[in-house]
Amino acid sequence: MEDYLQKREELEIEITKTKYDGISFTPIEEQANKIYRQALINERATKDDSFYKGYTLRHRDQFEKESFIFKAIQKLPKGAVQHIHIECCMDIDWFMEELAYHENTYFNQETSTFMYFQSTEKAQIGFKNLGQEREKTINKVQFDEEIRKCLFIQEYERMDSKQIIWSFFEKKITSVSGITYFKGHYPRFLKRCLENFIKDGVIHIEARADLGLIFKEDGTYLSINEEMEIIQKVLKEVQADYPYFTLQLIIQGLKMWDLSQIEQYMRNALTAKKNYPELICGFDMVQEEDSFKTMLEIAPALIKMKEMQDEFGVELPFVFHGGESLDTLTNINLLDILILGSKRIGHGINLAQHSYLLEKIKKDQVCLEICPVSNQMLKYIDDIRLHPIKTLLNYGVKVSINSDDPGLFGYNGVSMDYFFVSIGTQLDYKDLKLCVYNSIQYSFLSVEQKKAAWQELEKRFQIWCKWFIESCPCS
Ligand SMILES: [Zn+2]
Repeated sequence: MEDYLQKREELEIEITKTKYDGISFTPIEEQANKIYRQALINERATKDDSFYKGYTLRHRDQFEKESFIFKAIQKLPKGAVQHIHIECCMDIDWFMEELAYHENTYFNQETSTFMYFQSTEKAQIGFKNLGQEREKTINKVQFDEEIRKCLFIQEYERMDSKQIIWSFFEKKITSVSGITYFKGHYPRFLKRCLENFIKDGVIHIEARADLGLIFKEDGTYLSINEEMEIIQKVLKEVQADYPYFTLQLIIQGLKMWDLSQIEQYMRNALTAKKNYPELICGFDMVQEEDSFKTMLEIAPALIKMKEMQDEFGVELPFVFHGGESLDTLTNINLLDILILGSKRIGHGINLAQHSYLLEKIKKDQVCLEICPVSNQMLKYIDDIRLHPIKTLLNYGVKVSINSDDPGLFGYNGVSMDYFFVSIGTQLDYKDLKLCVYNSIQYSFLSVEQKKAAWQELEKRFQIWCKWFIESCPCS
């Protein structure tokens, strides 16, 4: 038996050495991990199947109040967020307080769309001034509640088929952009979004962002440089309060566009990169994978990036969405994404089905930007216990945890996503720290920035572990 146990220990050491390559754990972290695992076991014992299935957010009030794991995750250092879409990160409370009843906010009840107009005379047909409408109503609490419901996906809206949830999803995205992208509102919208992530323990964000959406009073759009100036100014304001925080943008185009449109957009993105090299870090193409063009179909435009980069004298790496699909016969976007040289992959959740790519992704260290809540909300995974994140992590694939579109799902920051995978797939403290490490290591920060960020995070992890050991009910 002694020999058997020796072999067992050797194998365990070999496995963990490969898995945690790049990070180490202090004795206090080892102790915290042990307690965290017990806390997970205890908390999972209080849940039945219905907690993990379909719409886990329906239990939100309960676990936000009662779960020690959730509380601990809120305090956990998070590192970088590699995958959010800025337009989908609106703080609902902030919108209700500051913009919903702003004098220039108009609402179309039939389409549930909000729009900025200079005056009632200039409002499009069907739009009424929302503040004035609220004044007319007797039950203002109910009125506010109805407006609030329009801002994020409701449980009943996601109960139908996948296509329907995407149509609700896309409608929600555009329903508020006519307000938030107004030049006068956008800086406050963005600032609030960044601050929410920082308060949630995030120190760096690489956010998907559109070019050419911010508009002026008369409805015309700002130039790319004007847009970038606004974003840069907001970032400087945020950095005045949080000097360690950094932000970069991954410019996103739409898969519904024709090839010449995509090429023109790539040129615009390269112009932005040339003028704002510190701010722009990547390029992506988005929209529901199975309803629009495949990566192979848009590849004729994308392969021109190389010569365009030479022409502009800058580099703009690809960071593509891919593998966000249940359709493994017709959707092999992951294959094309790798050939196109994507630095990371947005989602990649069907990689387990395209497992012939696992070794390559692992060898090339292509990090997967996993977005657990989004995966359940958009119905790619019904039961969060079956999310492939743990399988991928244990296999040695680089994985980070992200929130994709938190505003549209009704929350802020990224703690909710850490909670989903920890309670669902039993990621322990060490697993979570590994995901945080990956978020920095596979970001677009410079080598020096990564080193500084990790030093800061290591300090925060030690403080967190001490707090956790002292506070956990099962210590
Ligand atoms: Zn996304």
